[in-house]
Amino acid sequence: MKRVYNFSAGPSMLPLPVLKQAATEMTDAHGSGQSVMEMSHRSGDFKPIIEKTEALLRSLMGIPKNYRVLFLQGGASLQFSMIPLNLAGTEPGAPKKKAAYVETGIWAKKAAEEGAKYVDLVLEASSQDRAYTYIPRPPAPHPGAAYYHLTLNNTIVGTRWTELPQTGAVPLVADISSSILSEPLEVSRFGLLYAGAQKNLGPAGTTVVIIREDLIGKAPSWTPVMLRYDIHAQEASLYNTPPCYGIYIMGLVLEWLKGLGGVPAIAELNRNKAALFYGYLDHSRLFRSPVEPAFRSLMNIPFVATVGDTGERANLESRFVQEAAAQGLVNLAGHRLVGGMRASLYNAMPIEGVQELIRFMERFEEREKGRTGVSHTNHE
Ligand SMILES: *Cc1c(COP(=O)(O)O)cnc(C)c1O
Repeated sequence: MKRVYNFSAGPSMLPLPVLKQAATEMTDAHGSGQSVMEMSHRSGDFKPIIEKTEALLRSLMGIPKNYRVLFLQGGASLQFSMIPLNLAGTEPGAPKKKAAYVETGIWAKKAAEEGAKYVDLVLEASSQDRAYTYIPRPPAPHPGAAYYHLTLNNTIVGTRWTELPQTGAVPLVADISSSILSEPLEVSRFGLLYAGAQKNLGPAGTTVVIIREDLIGKAPSWTPVMLRYDIHAQEASLYNTPPCYGIYIMGLVLEWLKGLGGVPAIAELNRNKAALFYGYLDHSRLFRSPVEPAFRSLMNIPFVATVGDTGERANLESRFVQEAAAQGLVNLAGHRLVGGMRASLYNAMPIEGVQELIRFMERFEEREKGRTGVSHTNHE
């Protein structure tokens, strides 16, 4: 068996022990004589699976009792609509409510664009002026805002918030799709947290929403039933058929994480992986990180080549991505909207993967020097 190191931003690598366990349970899960995919979501076979997944998530994240955990579908993108609708939606004819957004990247911008359909949007701050390479210092929010939305880790541009804004009584709402369980997070600082599963939790198809109880039940009467937090909370995520298999795999991923020592242990590993890779980039004569050091993501690390003109650079970058893939280092192309390259180092990426990527990049760099004769200038 030859496994590749998958640097994709999502769907991304899953821990090998999880895949192996899923394989052994594929045709007969827990002595039920069937796979998890075939089980009724209301059966006694499935109930312990969803309950175990929720209990593990609660203990790993330290989720307080007054928060509900919902397993939904539609990806993080559907939350861009559900959040404004449920937290600040209004009846027809009534004036829109205010909600605050900070634009720190492409997902943050999409969340705001969708939110603006339902709320009177207050753009607190934006880092678009410098291609989202930093996190702005936002002012205190409008006291009447229904919530304050931010994207904790910006997957495409590779930045992260390290200090949360003080929002007083205005509930903080955060997209944590690409950073959930990567480092400690104080859940009680937030009114609502959400994440698509396909980055740090499991396969695509499940979205986790963690919502403080007092924020449930504010949706206007016209809200489609499938988009109502109160319905999903009342029915314990079983209003309709949930993504059963995805929830089961998430449970295995969480068990794996617990076995490693939970969030503190994985956070240390993640910091080491990121430090190794940024350390390499900062000394490379061929590659560099475009992100300001204070705001660099631990999970998603974009990088660009520093040689020649745009055409030369694009040529080199596409050669880089192809040659890396041939060495089993796959999905290193940057997001289609920003170009360049990107290495995503989620929880399941072992440090050996990062070490192998760096060795490949050092060899590539050496060879490039000889090939083009270009004397690369050190950008430092
Ligand atoms: C991947 C991602 C999304 C989009 O997730 P989907 O589940 O595909 O809708 C949104 N926000 C962030 C921060 C992401 O990383």
